[in-house]
Amino acid sequence: MKADMQDSPLTCTQFDVIVVGGGMVGASVALALGQIGWQVALIENQPIPVRPEAATPFDLRVSALSPKSIAFLQQLGVWHTIRRTRSAPYRRMRVWDESGSGDVTFHAADIGLPELGFIVENSLIQAVLWQAIIDTDTIICLRNSHPTHWHSDGSNAHLCVNGKHTLTAPLLIGADGAKSWVRQAVGIIETHSDYDTAAQVLSVITEYPQQDITWQRFTTHGPQAFLPLAGNHASLVWYDQTDAVKKRHAETDDMLLTRLQAEFPAELGGITAIETRGFFPIRRMHAARYTAKRAVLIGDAAHTIHPLAGQGVNLGFYDVMALLECLKDSDDLGAPKALRHYERMRRADNLITQSSMDAFHYGFRAQNPLVVHIRNLGLSAVAGITPLRKIVSNFASGQR
Ligand SMILES: Cc1cc2nc3c(=O)[nH]c(=O)nc-3n(C[C@H](O)[C@H](O)[C@H](O)COP(=O)(O)OP(=O)(O)OC[C@H]3O[C@@H](n4cnc5c(N)ncnc54)[C@H](O)[C@@H]3O)c2cc1C
Repeated sequence: MKADMQDSPLTCTQFDVIVVGGGMVGASVALALGQIGWQVALIENQPIPVRPEAATPFDLRVSALSPKSIAFLQQLGVWHTIRRTRSAPYRRMRVWDESGSGDVTFHAADIGLPELGFIVENSLIQAVLWQAIIDTDTIICLRNSHPTHWHSDGSNAHLCVNGKHTLTAPLLIGADGAKSWVRQAVGIIETHSDYDTAAQVLSVITEYPQQDITWQRFTTHGPQAFLPLAGNHASLVWYDQTDAVKKRHAETDDMLLTRLQAEFPAELGGITAIETRGFFPIRRMHAARYTAKRAVLIGDAAHTIHPLAGQGVNLGFYDVMALLECLKDSDDLGAPKALRHYERMRRADNLITQSSMDAFHYGFRAQNPLVVHIRNLGLSAVAGITPLRKIVSNFASGQR
């Protein structure tokens, strides 16, 4: 295993690419670029999770990975390890409206796929990507580190790390999440909107073992989602107004368990215990530009969306795939032409996905009888018309 900056002083300061942020998206782009043979510096300010053992409690944060994201992780050579550590495939996805008859189930077989996706813990994805990074000689990891200053001279980005070392590369990639330091440092503004909604996330033990289906029931307070995990485990996501979520979060496990048993759909079977829980405010954000001089944004640093359809990290992986496509034939990695091409490839898809999530969020909250009627007609139409179901399934699985 090669040393990283935790163990040894930095011997080189000139790189092909500097990546700030080693979450799922930043780690994947660093690994992909390092595997091509480029010299990469990866900067991360938080401890890296360890790959869980069978008895390790489930991470609260999980993601529904689309087939397209899984194909990308396969290309990186990490999917096999993720899959066999622990993951839950789902072949069906049921969505219904509490206040009407609209009820639709999507099947992987409808679009000729073995699965619609897999539910995997975020920390597991990150841990496996990092293990591969540490085994890749072309990537230098600067852990427990953060950038303190940035400037560009037109042909290179210069990044000062921890106020001590200045790293230089023709391209700086900001993959440092929703509150991106890079986005602010390079002067990219963003638009955002708050939904006054939070996602209460609960890792629970269920009466039945894992099934190959995800459930999502829309209520006027927000969706209630059930995502299967390995064995008798599941992840519940309960969206509601932020105050209501905070109030529920303050309750004891026993009180919350009774509430879940009463208010979550009976289809799930019994919930016998809560393992871990937390809540996350939901915010939509879109960077006004994805690129600046010698810099580019990917993943949550460029856009965040309502997670009700589980698309956030998938969009981040699609950003990485598009960026790699644009950089692969470029002699100059941070050339404005290649970066603008990347932005053109990704902005519309990210915007359409954000707006679709808004339509779900506001459309299902509405209590006006006409809107309730129309949305139930819509769900019934999707349920009854196979080509419509296929369009939605293809969109969710990343086949844009
Ligand atoms: C409740 C909820 C459920 C979700 N469910 C799904 C789902 O089912 N499917 C899905 O696709 N998406 C889902 N998402 C969205 C998904 O979690 C995010 O889109 C994804 O985590 C973004 O990954 P990222 O790597 O871009 O950013 P992050 O995960 O935020 O990673 C950023 C990294 O940068 C590091 N960093 C930040 N600042 C600095 C700095 N200054 N210096 C160095 N390092 C820094 C951080 O420590 C972190 O490691 C969900 C989100 C929520 C809130």
